[in-house]
Formats: sequence, C-alpha cells, structure tokens
Amino acid sequence: LKKFITYIQIPKMMLRMVQKRALQLRANANKRESSALFDSSRKKERLVILGSGWASFKILKDLSVHSARFDIKVISPRNYFLFTPLLTSSCVGTLSFRSIIEPVRNMSESSRYYQASALDVDIGTKSVRCMGKLTGEEFSVNYDKLVVGVGARNNTFGIDGVEEHAMFLKDLSDARRIRNKIIECFELANLPTLSGEERRKVLTFAVVGGGPTGCELIAELSDFLWEDLLRAFPNVSAGDVRIVLLEGSDGILSQFEWRLAKQAMNNFKRAGIDVRLGTAVTRVERDSVLLASGERLHTGMVVWSTGVAPTPLVRAFEGRFAEQNGRLFVDAHLRVRDADTMRPLPDVYALGDCAVIDGDPLPPTAQVAQQQGTYLSRQLLSLTPVAEQKPFQFHYLGMMAYIGGFKALLDSPYLVGSGWLEWLAWRGTYFSKLGSWKNKMNVPADWLRTLIFGRDISSF
Ligand SMILES: Cc1cc2nc3c(=O)[nH]c(=O)nc-3n(C[C@H](O)[C@H](O)[C@H](O)COP(=O)(O)OP(=O)(O)OC[C@H]3O[C@@H](n4cnc5c(N)ncnc54)[C@H](O)[C@@H]3O)c2cc1C
Repeated sequence: LKKFITYIQIPKMMLRMVQKRALQLRANANKRESSALFDSSRKKERLVILGSGWASFKILKDLSVHSARFDIKVISPRNYFLFTPLLTSSCVGTLSFRSIIEPVRNMSESSRYYQASALDVDIGTKSVRCMGKLTGEEFSVNYDKLVVGVGARNNTFGIDGVEEHAMFLKDLSDARRIRNKIIECFELANLPTLSGEERRKVLTFAVVGGGPTGCELIAELSDFLWEDLLRAFPNVSAGDVRIVLLEGSDGILSQFEWRLAKQAMNNFKRAGIDVRLGTAVTRVERDSVLLASGERLHTGMVVWSTGVAPTPLVRAFEGRFAEQNGRLFVDAHLRVRDADTMRPLPDVYALGDCAVIDGDPLPPTAQVAQQQGTYLSRQLLSLTPVAEQKPFQFHYLGMMAYIGGFKALLDSPYLVGSGWLEWLAWRGTYFSKLGSWKNKMNVPADWLRTLIFGRDISSF
C-alpha cells in the first residue's frame, strides 16, 4: 500500500516541479524586463490592492511577478477569487464550491495578504484604515499607490424585509445558503405532517429580477428540479412545485437582443416556470412576498437579484471622492477624482463594479473589471507619466447566459443565437477563462459527475 501511495504521488510531485519551474522562468523573465526599465536604486513602490475580485485579482496576477518593482499588499475579507459566472451552477450542485475559487495566496509568494476590510482611506497620510475580519481589530497600511476594487453590494432599493428575509447571490456563502434552503424546503414538504396547501407554499421558489443572474439561477433551479429533486423525493409531485420569476419591467434579459430574450421566455415557459413581467415587489416577509397589485405570494425561498449598490467603503468616501450613482467617478486612466475640484487624486485608482468612467459608463460585469485590471497593471508598470498614456478602452466580447435544458444564449459581435450549440460555446468559454489548471480539471470533472450521477441532494 505504501509503495502504491508513493507511486501515485510521483506524477503530482512532477507536476508541482514543472509548475514551480515555469513560474520561476516567468518571474525571471519579468524581473529582467522590469529591471531593464527600472532604476534599481529607487525604492520599491508600496502597492495596496483592496479586494480580491475580478479587477483586483487580475492586477495581483499580473504584478506579483514584478516583486523587484512593487511591495504588494492585498486587503480583502475574502481570501479567494470567485469565478462568478459559474456561481449559479454551484447553487444547485452542478459544480462543487471549491471548483470555482482560487485562493489569493496561491497567486503570489512575494505579496502579502490581510483578511480584512478597508474602512477608509486618508489621502493626506496615504494610508488605509482596515479592520481584521476575524478579530475586528483596526490597523493601518501605508501605500504609494492604491487600487480600489471592492465591487458592489446587492441593491435592495430600500424595500422592506429584503435584507432580513430574502437571499442574495453574490458570494460562495450565498450559494451554499441557497442550496441548503432548496433542499430543506423539499425535506419539509416530504414530511407527512404537512397539508397539501402548506406543501405548495413551501415549494414555491421566487427569484426577483430578470437580469442574467436571476435568469441563470431560475434555469439551474429548474434543471435541478426536473433532473434530481423530483426523482429523489417521490412523495413530492411536480404539480406542487412552483418556480416564479418576478420582474418589475416589461421584459427579461434586456441586455440581450430582443429575440434572444424571447427565446429565453419561451424556454422558461416550456419548463413550467412562471415568468411575471411588470410585477413589482413591495415587501418581503418571512414566508411570503407582497406584490404591488396587492397579491401575497407565499414562498419557501426568495432570492433577490436586482442590480448593484455601493459598498460601505464607497459610501465612506462620500463628499471627498467624486461619485456617480454610487460608483467612484474615475477618469479614462482610472484615477479617482476629487469631489470638489474634479481633478484626479494622486495615486488612487478605482476599477470594476465600484467605479464608473467619466463619459463612458460601462455595465458592472466581470468582462469590464478584468479588462480594466489588465489596463491598470500595464499602466502601473509603465514608466511613462499617466497623463501621456493611452486611456482605457473597453473591447466588447459579447454576452452569454444559460437558460436551462442544455441551452444558452449567445449575443456577440460575431455570433448571435440560442440553443445547445450556444450552450457548448457557453461551457467552452467559461472553461477557457478558468484561471488555473486545478479548476480546469475540477470543472469538467464536476460536469461529467453531474451528468452521470446527478447532483448531490444533501444539505450541510
Ligand atoms: C452570480 C453572478 C453571476 C455573474 N455572471 C457574470 C457573467 O456571466 N459575466 C460577467 O461579465 N459578469 C458576471 N457577473 C458580474 C461580475 O461578477 C462582476 O461584475 C465582477 O465580479 C466585478 O468585479 P469587481 O472586481 O469589481 O468586484 P468583485 O468581483 O465583486 O470583487 C470585490 C472584492 O472586494 C472585496 N471587498 C468588498 N469590500 C471590501 C472592503 N471594504 N475592503 C477590501 N475588500 C473589500 C470583496 O470581498 C471582493 O473580494 C456575475 C455576478 C454574479 C453575482
């Protein structure tokens, strides 16, 4: 047995050695290039990165090999990067949680990471006040250059009861909560003590918001229902289950071409999903949702997915840093502007969901955040003064959304369509975008496992 264990360790060790060597070679090449441009007598620049999402993680990835130039500190309450486009799949167990995350510490040995939230920034002393996530204790970190990539929160529009009773889908912990809740609702409905009416109430799943996230969640939920849950709970009949999509405007997926949005509507209707357009929610209670029409919809679970709002950190900047609709107002070089003078503040940059470019408001998407991350790392590496560098330009690559039943929508400058070929493209694209070989092995393995054995239906 010992011999066997040793043998199976050999390929793992070899892979590690190859990976380490490749990283060393890359780091050496970058160091050579960096030191050729950089005067080594100059002090290392202290670069502080706030956040570990799409924008910040991209910068960390690009700059961590330039340890001769930068002393990098990352501050984020989340010690991993999350591949959000596949988060809805992990809500229902198509993918396991660990397959779509990347630990921040794996990215760089030279940078330092603190599990903390930034509370405020003092541009006079060039310091960030932080609070440790585990201890609640405060500490300060000084910077020469500061990158703010703290993303956004869910927008509740101040509607009563949303914070208390609805679920959100932003992080891995949310996905775990949603998955447990779905399974708990089915376990509850399975009890012999419940009346038929109570069973129907507990098996009503409502998603508020018909944007890409809400629609993908509905689609995954419907697959989970038909492919796994109804089989695993023979006492529950399909007629007792209701999946409802509540959308305040008169259409879903408004970011997509109208005919694609229509295809999605038809697909949802075929899957028995109740799509209610022009339906505003006025209040959420523990076991029901109140609609503007006065109707009360009894629910087992409500997921709220209606756009983004500023994080507490961005709120704390109010009056000092320029803002537009709750996002930091940056110039075309991603420099944060002073609220009074509207001039760029020295050495403070913002990008991703928490920022909006003057004259070029871009949607809060991973695509934008990642491209801005690439742009800013190049800008930080360059020795040309910022004002002389090219401004940021977004290259639109298209949009995709899963609509259930092995079908997806694809709306890109090259191809527009919906169906199973688009679903293959959807999977292929996200597979190619996964940041590490570990996840490139995990995700297809999860897809195959789900196809053969179905999704796991235990809650823990
Ligand atoms: C379920 C879901 C599906 C999505 N699907 C797609 C898709 O298919 N395609 C697409 O383009 N976009 C998609 N998006 C949108 C995309 O995820 C966001 O636009 C993107 O994450 C924004 O990147 P970001 O770096 O600005 O912020 P985030 O990725 O949200 O990262 C913010 C980071 O800041 C940290 N942070 C927060 N507050 C503080 C603080 N005070 N101090 C320090 N750190 C802090 C957070 O912990 C986090 O690490 C999806 C989003 C969700 C939720």
